[in-house]
Amino acid sequence: MTVSSAVQIGYRLANEVNEGNPANNCVNGHPIFYVEGQAGELPGHIYSEAGMREFRISRMCEWCFDDMCIEEDDDFDLSEGEGLLY
Ligand SMILES: [Zn+2]
Repeated sequence: MTVSSAVQIGYRLANEVNEGNPANNCVNGHPIFYVEGQAGELPGHIYSEAGMREFRISRMCEWCFDDMCIEEDDDFDLSEGEGLLY
C-alpha cells in the first residue's frame, strides 16, 4: 500500500471516523484515514472498528496506538525474559 492510495481510499472514510467533526488529525497531528487491515501501516492509519471507537475517545490513530503498545510490549518482554522461550 502506498501513501497516496491509502489517502485516496481513506479520506472518503475519514468523515465516518470523525462523525462530522472537522478535526481529522490524531493527537500527534497525523491526518487520519480508514483502511481495513491488521496493523497500522502509516501515520494516521485506522484499520478496525475498535480503532474507530478508540479514535473517537482518545483522538489517537491506530498507528500511534500500536507504536505505544509495541514499546510497552518490548519492555514487558525484557522483564519477562526471552530465556523462557530459548
Ligand atoms: Zn497518529
